[in-house]
This record gives sequence, structure tokens and C-alpha cells, in this order.
Amino acid sequence: MTEPTPQSSLSDSDPAEKKPDFELMTPLQFVPGVGSARAERFRKLGLRKAQDVLFFFPREHQFPPPPTRVDDLHEGKSATFIGKVIDAELVSRTPGKSIFAAIIENESGVVRIVFFNQPFRAEQLTLDRLVRLSGNPKLAGLRWEFTHPKYEIIDSEEADDAGTGSIESVYPLTEGVKEYELRRLTKQVSEVLADEIKEVMPAELRKAAAKALGRVDLNVGDSLPSIATTLRHIHCPPSAEALTAARTRLIFQELLVMQLALAMRRQSLTGRLRATPLDCSAQIKQRIIRRFPFELTGDQLRVIETIAGELQRQFPMNRLLQGDVGSGKTVVAIFAMMLTVACGHQATLMAPTEVLARQHFATLQKILAGSKVTVGLLCGSLGAAERRETLQQIASGEIDLIVGTQALVFDIQFHSLALCVIDEQHKFGVGQRVRLRQGGVDPHCLVMSATPIPRSIAMTQFGDVDLSTIRDKPAGRGEVHTYLAVDGWKDRWWDFIRQRVAEGRQVYIVAPRVGDQDMGNEDRGGGEGTGKEPADPIVELSDDEAVAAEDITSVSRTYEHLSKEVFKELRVELLHGRMKADAKQAVMDRFAEGDIDVLVTTTVIEVGVDVANATVMTILGGNRFGLAQLHQLRGRVSRGVHAGHVCVFTDGERSPEESERLKVFESTNDGFELAEADFRLRGPGDLLGKKQSGLPPLRIADLSRDIEILQVARKLAQELIDEDPAMEDESLTLLKEQVLRRYGERLHLGDGA
Ligand code: ADP
Ligand code: MG
Repeated sequence: MTEPTPQSSLSDSDPAEKKPDFELMTPLQFVPGVGSARAERFRKLGLRKAQDVLFFFPREHQFPPPPTRVDDLHEGKSATFIGKVIDAELVSRTPGKSIFAAIIENESGVVRIVFFNQPFRAEQLTLDRLVRLSGNPKLAGLRWEFTHPKYEIIDSEEADDAGTGSIESVYPLTEGVKEYELRRLTKQVSEVLADEIKEVMPAELRKAAAKALGRVDLNVGDSLPSIATTLRHIHCPPSAEALTAARTRLIFQELLVMQLALAMRRQSLTGRLRATPLDCSAQIKQRIIRRFPFELTGDQLRVIETIAGELQRQFPMNRLLQGDVGSGKTVVAIFAMMLTVACGHQATLMAPTEVLARQHFATLQKILAGSKVTVGLLCGSLGAAERRETLQQIASGEIDLIVGTQALVFDIQFHSLALCVIDEQHKFGVGQRVRLRQGGVDPHCLVMSATPIPRSIAMTQFGDVDLSTIRDKPAGRGEVHTYLAVDGWKDRWWDFIRQRVAEGRQVYIVAPRVGDQDMGNEDRGGGEGTGKEPADPIVELSDDEAVAAEDITSVSRTYEHLSKEVFKELRVELLHGRMKADAKQAVMDRFAEGDIDVLVTTTVIEVGVDVANATVMTILGGNRFGLAQLHQLRGRVSRGVHAGHVCVFTDGERSPEESERLKVFESTNDGFELAEADFRLRGPGDLLGKKQSGLPPLRIADLSRDIEILQVARKLAQELIDEDPAMEDESLTLLKEQVLRRYGERLHLGDGA
């Protein structure tokens, strides 16, 4: 968040004020009341100087429970009670032993409080005092009693306030550091030093932000609070409203700084990058479109128009095309590639796995049959000689379209690369495309993703990427029905599968693991011979282990069980990521030909496998898959005219989170809804992989929660940069410094930005 600005001079403060005995840069041990032993412990929390304390924000805030009425008291449930002392008595029978008891009354009735051997209570809890007490009440006879409650004496005004009590800050702790020490320290330091921090957001900007936030129902008054007020209130909130305003300011500032960086980057890239303009006549475009054996959907045509427009520019397109599996993204990509070739340049299509690359290669060959366009394939299983020849043909320009796996296509020599399409990519770091720059020219870039990106991610990690979305499905697609299996369903489901196979359909059965070891996403990028293939072989079942054949999470066990027992009469085959590439291909081909009824497999089929006749899917151990993965899997059975059926089985007890996820999965077929739900359930880090995001982590803002603030910040940032691209206005100097300090290096903003 706000990075502290060292303050050089304190001398212009009001001379009447007592000069503070410590400053921003004062080492903590010299802050009154800290000392070296404590300072040593605070160090473990990253607190070294006084100013660090200002920016050591509470993890959360605890709101005092609302005061309880007598009729609402319950034994064993802690309560806060506010009332007046109407009777008090200290009784000492033997020396050193005493009982102090008092009766506290408010309009709802009376309670009794008792203290043993604490005679000094009698001096504090005198008649007519107003107190707020909290503790665990017990029924003693007909009266509620608090033994040794916590209490504080309050004045009547505060009591009228329904006893809001003080909101307590809760700090992250470390060994040897107590909550109360941090509360005391942050209070002491923020009271003295909050005014010393320089304000980076000019008053006008704070007002504009408050107004814009108000429009989305985030009310912080006429203006976001100043940094001094914010720092005081975040540590010691005087009220819930003040706390909200302070937090909103900090979140807003963090997001604004990020969005300013992204806006500056967009701005500077527009001026700096150079791409090959691809300008085609409307006639050529029509000719390309006519090559497709079907009518394009409205969304496809719309996106094609957008892309064709962008490809004409000198400035590289950087577009993310998102759409559910099967929505027809690849068709759009093929259009862009053919347009590139029609303009005399090369295009490449990168896929995450060899299986997918081969599939794209086949699709392209089919569509281009009888044309002069040449397509080349680059993948791991190519022989050395073949590979050398392909590379040579790419360099000489004999090959127009290059399909391959990502690892192989990066870093090769092209003749004239003008467009790069990246398929099924959802882990996309800022700055990827730099790798494909050749001779100072960047290719236009189109990324396809079937994992819809939540809005907030699109606005941050993908900050300089334009977004296109295909929502409508090609006509004539069957619906998909999703079921969550309940106990005892298996036999019925196996019967259902037999019926569908009898009708001529094909079936997937997906298990999460290959062997006995949990493989996670074992198939991503598998089959490339990267040397990273998992070492342990597929487990052979011994007689002993056969008992556990019902272990549904292992694909090999499931295969054994299904092929030998359940579906003896059907053609059952096994497919997983640890098979050799050609063996895998052979199984896929036979499945595509309809020579296999039931394919027992892992997530290797998650991406891109396209067999329209396969309409039934069983997902085993479904609780082990993420939402995005489940949805990808479901996409495999929504490709043809027949209705699809997906049944999810789980293993073991489901955690509440797993249940929630599966319920969401069952309830909607809309990838966008699922993505937003996933984001809510898992948070942003997981979705993108923290390291992949390319941006420094946020400290206060939470993208899954603060979407409205993010939108406001983005809009204001864009307006600021449109008006003042280099943030040269004097009032923005400090803000600009913060943007550069935090993002400058990461986003290459330093020079000329
Ligand atoms: P995605 O890449 O979005 O998963 P594809 O482009 O691979 O989707 O399309 C999925 C299937 O639908 C392919 O078999 C493709 O040929 C077919 N398809 C795409 N667009 C249309 C359309 N407009 N009409 C009919 N079929 C289409
Ligand atoms: Mg696809």
C-alpha cells in the first residue's frame, strides 16, 4: 500500500505544540515505552522504525457486540450489558478475603456483578456510575449474575450511543508479541506521527474518488479521508463509518496506483511497439469465411470484425478471446491466421499439449485442403531430421502456418511472423509477447481461453489486454445435464451408460489420478518428453490390492475394475498422460473413429478433445477437481447434437468447500458464472498462480471482494492518464513516484513513460 515517505523536516509544525520525542525514522527501541528487548521482538514483524508501525495495518477489526437486554441473556453466551450502578456492597469477613457485589440496572432490568478478593472494585463501581460490562452471565436464582466481568466506566453520552464501545484492531502477531502491545504501539505512533506522512492523493482526487465510489453505493462522505486521518483511524477507529472510510481509502489508493501503472503502460506501448499491419479487402475476408463448412455465429462474426480491424494497425493487437469450450473460438483464430497468410505473412498457433497441437493441425489441413496455404507441425515427437527440415521451411517462409506446442514455438526463427495465437491459455503473464519479437517487430497476439477470466482479473493481470467474449453457442448443440451422484447411484449410472452405448453414443470416465500417487494436474503439457515426466510407473494390481479396486480416484484401478467386471461386454480403453505420445494418439484416434465405447481417462482429455458422439461423462472423485477443470471436462460432452450427461461421484467425506463447489457446478452451465463463483471460493491467487501474475501482490485490496473499488480506480486512472499521460502535473508528483516505485521496473515504465 502506501509506501512511507521519509520526512526530513518537522520544524514547520505549530511551535506551541510539544515537539514529539520521536520521528518517522526513529528506531523503535528509542520510541518511549518500547526499549530494546521489545524492539527486538517487533523486528520479527518487520517493524524497525517508527514509520513502519504506521503502515503495519490490522489484520481485522473486532466490533464490540451490541449491548444485550436482560431478557436476551443466555447462560454460556458472552454478553455486553450497559447500566447504572444502583446498589453496591463490599463485605470482608476474614482479613484478605472479601466479596464485592453490585447491582446494575438499565431499562430492561437488573443484573448482579460479583468480584472476590478485589476490594478496590468498590472504589470504581460507586453508586450512579454508568458501566459497560461484558462476560459470561449465569442465572443465580432469578437474577443474572456476572462473576469477574470486564467493565469500563462510561459517560452518559456514550451510553446513549447504544454503547458502540471501541472497535478493536487485531494485528498479525508473532511469538513473544502480544496483541495489547501492538495496540498500544500503533496508537502511540499514529497519534504522534500520522501527520508527518506526505499526502499522495490531492484533495481534488480524493473528492472525485468519493463521488465515484458513492455512485456504486460505497459511501465515504464528500471526500476520501486524508492520509493522516486514514492512518489514525485504521489503527484506532472512532466509529464504524470512520473505519470504512479509512479502509476504503487504503484499498482505493492501492488499486489506483496499480491502475495508473497499467494505464501508463498501455499508453507507452501504443507509442513504442510496432507490428506488421495486415490489411485485407472485404472480398478476401469473405472468401476466408466461406471456407468454413457452417454459418458463423453472431459473436464469431463480431469478434472477427474486431480482430480484422485491429490487425490493420501498426500497433500489435493483444487480445484475449474467451468463450466456453465449444463456443467456436478456434474458428475465429483460424480466420485471423488465414487473413495473415493472405497478406503474405506467417502465423503460428501454439497449444499447451501435443494432442491439441495435432488436432489443430488436422483441422487446419482439412479447412485448407485444395488451397495454396501450407501448414507445418512442431511437436516433441518429431524426429530430428523432420524437425530440422520443418524449422528450415519456417525460416525460409515455405511454411505459412505453424502449429506447435508452446515450448517449441517460442524462440524459433520465422521468416515473417505477424500473428501469434495461443490456445487454451489461462496462465498468462504480462510481457509474454516480448519473447516473440523479431527484428524489432512484435507479432499481433491472440490468446484463447476457455476459462473465463473474472472481471477483476481482466482489469488487473490482463490490464493491457483487450477482451473479446463469445457467449452464444453454435446452433444445434445438445444441452448438457449435470447430476451429483448420491449414495447407491453407481449401478443405476452404469446401466444408464449401457443404454447410451446401445444407442451408439460414447462415454468418458474420468478419474483424478493415474496411479496411486496424487498427480494433481498430471497431464498439463504432458507428452512432450520434457524430462519432467513423473517417474513412478502405473501401478499393477496385485491380488491383495484388488480389494481396493473400488478406489475410484485411480484411473488404472478404475480401468481394471470397469473393463474386467462392470463393462465386460463393451470396448473399454485407458488413456492417460504418462502414456507415450504415439500410444496416446492411437487411443484418441480410435475413440474419434468410434472404435471405443468407454474411455477411462484422466484430465488429459480436459483440453480440446473433440468427439461429438461422446455424450456421457462420469467424473470420479469429482471433489478433487477445481471448478474450472470440472467445467472444462463437461465441455467434452457438449459438442454434438445429442444431449450430454455428466454425473459426478465423490470419494470420502466432502469438505464444505468441496460441497459448495460441486453445488455451483451442478447449478449452472455458464462458464462465466462459474468463473466468478470460483473466484469467490478460491480467491485470486490460486486462479492465476501467484508467480504467474507478473504483478506484485496486493497488500490490502482483495480482488475478489473489492471489484467495485477496482472499477472506480480503473476509470479514474484512465481519465488521469488520458489527460496527463506522463503525470506531469505538480499535484501528481508524489502519486507518480509511488506508481514508479511499485510498478516501474515490473512494467518497464521507467524510460519515457
Ligand atoms: P473452442 O475452440 O471454442 O472450444 P471450436 O472452435 O473448436 O471451439 O469449435 C467447437 C466445434 O464446433 C468444432 O467442431 C467446430 O467445427 C464447431 N463450430 C464452430 N463454430 C461453429 C458454427 N458457427 N456452427 C457450427 N459449428 C461450429
Ligand atoms: Mg478449443
